[in-house]
Amino acid sequence: MKKIFIVLFSCIFLLTACSTAEESSTNKAQVMEADVVVIGGGGAGLTAAIEAHDAGAKVIVVEKMPFVGGNTVRSKGGLNAAETSVQKKLGINDSVEAFYKDTMEGGKNLNDPELVKYFTENSAEAVDWLISIGMDLGDVAAGAGATNPRMHRPTGGKDIGAVLIDTLSKNIKERKIETLVNTTVTEITGSTDQITGIKAVDNNTKQEIQIKADSVVVATGGFAANEKLYTKYREDLKGFITTNHTGATGDGIIMAEALGAGLVDMEQIQTNPTVEQSKAEVISESVRGLGAIFVNQSGNRFTNEMLTRDVLSAKILEQEGKYTYILFDQQLRDSMGAIEGLVKKNLVTEGNSIEELAAKISIDAASLQSTIDRWNTAVANKKDEDYGRETGMDNNLSKAPYYVIKVAPGVHHTMGGIKINTNAEVLKSDGTKINGLYAAGEAAGGVHGANRLGGNAVADIIIYGRQAGIKSSELALKNGSLLGEQSTSEEAEKVSGIKEGLVGNYKDGTYSATAKGNNGDLTVEIAVKDGFLQSIEVKDYSETGPIFSTVEEQLIPAIIYEQSTEQDAISGATNSSQALMEAVKLALEQAK
Ligand SMILES: Cc1cc2nc3c(=O)[nH]c(=O)nc-3n(C[C@H](O)[C@H](O)[C@H](O)COP(=O)(O)OP(=O)(O)OC[C@H]3O[C@@H](n4cnc5c(N)ncnc54)[C@H](O)[C@@H]3O)c2cc1C
Repeated sequence: MKKIFIVLFSCIFLLTACSTAEESSTNKAQVMEADVVVIGGGGAGLTAAIEAHDAGAKVIVVEKMPFVGGNTVRSKGGLNAAETSVQKKLGINDSVEAFYKDTMEGGKNLNDPELVKYFTENSAEAVDWLISIGMDLGDVAAGAGATNPRMHRPTGGKDIGAVLIDTLSKNIKERKIETLVNTTVTEITGSTDQITGIKAVDNNTKQEIQIKADSVVVATGGFAANEKLYTKYREDLKGFITTNHTGATGDGIIMAEALGAGLVDMEQIQTNPTVEQSKAEVISESVRGLGAIFVNQSGNRFTNEMLTRDVLSAKILEQEGKYTYILFDQQLRDSMGAIEGLVKKNLVTEGNSIEELAAKISIDAASLQSTIDRWNTAVANKKDEDYGRETGMDNNLSKAPYYVIKVAPGVHHTMGGIKINTNAEVLKSDGTKINGLYAAGEAAGGVHGANRLGGNAVADIIIYGRQAGIKSSELALKNGSLLGEQSTSEEAEKVSGIKEGLVGNYKDGTYSATAKGNNGDLTVEIAVKDGFLQSIEVKDYSETGPIFSTVEEQLIPAIIYEQSTEQDAISGATNSSQALMEAVKLALEQAK
């Protein structure tokens, strides 16, 4: 029998609050039980959940947003790993030692050496594990700060995030792992002697939920979307845009600290040097890895473009206007699928010749031509006399059309977080364990030191996500397993993301429609299955980036949950909200 029942838990803790029946009914908490609770449905959380389930544990994932994915779904360039089966197949020589050295050097040796050792020694196995659960990692690119090409990504250079979350989600569904979305964890219960579970609240109904568990995995991501928290540690970042999703507010770090966990490196916050500012879109460093260069408004290069993110951010902020252009050619566009998405989002300026491109961005054409000629000579000679660049020099820039994307730094990654050991166990400041508490991914600190290398975060969430799942289930299963008990229909509803009691009458298939947005056309593609609207993908839009991300993140799940386009517009983004609802409505009309 499934152990779900209703208790008046606030009455237990606060007897005076239960004086009338009316008051007590608002304080009812739904109580559930699991072996392992995972807080956060991003890459680290879903990975931990799969491993804990496969070890025999009953797992519940709790995600505060209306859907899983977190920052992971936004990740672009890839996942770093050394001595992998994929590198071997592609004839790439690399070593765990070089990976360790690069990670420590990139992190200015502030990294925890033990965590980095485990991280680099287990990366190849993480790649094989991902491939074994259906992930496409057929491509390997050069990344900034890496001695050898080791950034693994889907074939054809597609962005890694969406493919990764899709793969992990499919595995979660196949295993029927309970996932409560739109549910915010507010407290980790228990003490430093033994964790007893979590308390959460359903964001829609305000229903309180208590989940009892012997192990809790904190996988809530970082805090780069919480300006108040990051400026507490780094006042100089006030006013920077963020590349993160709105849920990256550091909740897990705050809750773990309240329980007695130690925190490390909280002031180590990374800006990404190449963020397109109007849409807060990160331009992956694999564009530079494939041969792109930086040019400033005078048409000159000013740095080795393959240096680490902290150095490049500082160099860009020294340029006129505090921005740079990333310049590349048609050959590079042809070799990197992700560029097409950037073109569709109108982030790329194109010129059929250097002269035409220079005119479009008001750069002196002769200066730009001379910079490109000098760079092409450096590529031919395999020697960059000006800035000493050594990687990303396999292709010159000679095939028209030519392209630029204008970028500047944005707050991107929080290296600090909860103190853990190589078992992903959470430690107090004195280094002793908190029994039953685990952390993985961006919520944990110590792997990246003072600066994270591109590709190391996605590697981190898989390597330590797996470890957190394995170790948390090991502990919980000492008390037997709850796996195999049935879900209630209410939970099934939360997993599917569709309100109970609705009738699905649409014709199955995919449909596309366009509506007028704030700045131009907005096109969506919807999928209908079993009569219900199951997914909405925005294919093309010209809306303002950070605001539109909020519209996408909040409105799409609401439309799907209620199977209705009659939703309240997102405050501050009325026109974009209405355009999205109109496009979905037009697409649904085709499905009638
Ligand atoms: C635009 C962008 C591009 C990137 N590209 C790369 C790349 O190419 N390679 C790379 O290595 N790294 C990249 N990174 C960094 C990397 O994506 C992240 O560090 C990593 O995905 C974090 O994973 P995570 O599982 O720890 O957290 P997330 O994926 O952020 O997941 C955490 C989840 O926890 C949920 N949550 C938070 N608080 C609560 C709560 N109280 N209750 C319930 N749920 C909660 C959040 O809503 C979220 O879904 C990129 C980051 C960004 C923003």
